[in-house]
Amino acid sequence: MIALAPTLYLFGAFMLSLLGVFLYAIWRGDEEAEELWWWAAVFATAGASALCYAFRNEVEWLSIIFGNALTLWACGLLWTGILVFVGEPVRPLLALLGGVIWAAGLWRADIHFRISEVSAISAIYEVAAAVQLFRYNRIGGQRLVVSRVTAWIIALQAGFEIALAIAAPFLAVDETSFLTSPYLKYRFLELSGFIAVLGFLLATLSKERLAKRREVAAMIDPLTGLPNRRAFERAVERAKRSAPAPSTAVLVFDLDNFKYINDRFGHAEGDRVLAVFGATATRNTRSSDMLARIGGEEFVAILSPADRTSALAIAERIRSAFIHDAAHLADGAATVSVGVTVLEDATPDLAAMTRVADDALYRAKAEGRNRVIFAGAQRRGDAGILSVTAR
Ligand code: GH3
Ligand code: MG
Ligand code: MG
Repeated sequence: MIALAPTLYLFGAFMLSLLGVFLYAIWRGDEEAEELWWWAAVFATAGASALCYAFRNEVEWLSIIFGNALTLWACGLLWTGILVFVGEPVRPLLALLGGVIWAAGLWRADIHFRISEVSAISAIYEVAAAVQLFRYNRIGGQRLVVSRVTAWIIALQAGFEIALAIAAPFLAVDETSFLTSPYLKYRFLELSGFIAVLGFLLATLSKERLAKRREVAAMIDPLTGLPNRRAFERAVERAKRSAPAPSTAVLVFDLDNFKYINDRFGHAEGDRVLAVFGATATRNTRSSDMLARIGGEEFVAILSPADRTSALAIAERIRSAFIHDAAHLADGAATVSVGVTVLEDATPDLAAMTRVADDALYRAKAEGRNRVIFAGAQRRGDAGILSVTAR
């Protein structure tokens, strides 16, 4: 039989290097994704390993010692890149250890045990990598689908390596005919498949997270850390589809005389007042309530469930706590007006309720600011139109 292996290994080394360059190029495009650098190193190392195997006929020890050590270092790098990706501390010594103990002496074993050893050590790194990825499948409440898939693919490969580690003593291979053995052919095919899929999954994984991170960031107001108008509108859309709460309150807030505060104390001071309001409102609502900054100095809270009494109590608590919390800013001039509405025993139409609460807010401004005004919301028949009743 002709020894196809050297050509296959050269081809493999070329493909692996290409994948390495591909991941490196993506990393250069977005250096925030540090894991891509490590994964580029995985493929470069695996490429060097394939190159060593290609010269098995010429320099046997190079192929056996370094070819396999590099394979194990590639596995260690894969694990390291995944630790970087999930934000766990990296363990460079442990990542190197597999290749080191191999080069230090494990390579002296009989060919069957060499196959066992390399497969077993690879499996350890792969299991460690897969476990990390299985645990990491959400970001800011958003699911990471590719993370799951990649974890499964790596786990599958680990399973295969473990089976091979057990079966290796019974394989029909020997030192002299290794390069022409059917084992090597199938192993090459299996590894190529895994590595090609892995390369594309890793690139996609990083991109998926970046996209989700940006999506989450686009929903958060950086000044107060609260959801912004876009997030609020989405939550309103979602609420339309979910089961109605028995009673829902909408509170709208507008800071008083904010133009004056900006003009008199500067925009930066205005920003500090806004940040304090965000903190005060957060502290005085439940984590299950929806609180958002929907405009410059306008905020909204949806309390569910909440009746009229508790909604008014929370609005009043926020109003008075804000005066206290912001007393050290803008000469203590910062106050807030609040419009409140509650809809009981009906499916809330949050958009319509917000308009009703806005109406109450308008009256709070007209009546002198720094106060809470209630407007009752009622369903009118089946049409679902809200009407405002006298407070
Ligand atoms: P009123 O009591 O009637 O609400 O008076 P007002 O001055 O607050 O009136 P208005 O709501 O029209 O003014 C809002 C001001 O808030 C105008 C704008 O300059 C300021 N503003 C909007 N966004 C920001 C921001 O992010 N930072 C700062 N410092 N100011 C902002
Ligand atoms: Mg305003
Ligand atoms: Mg205002």
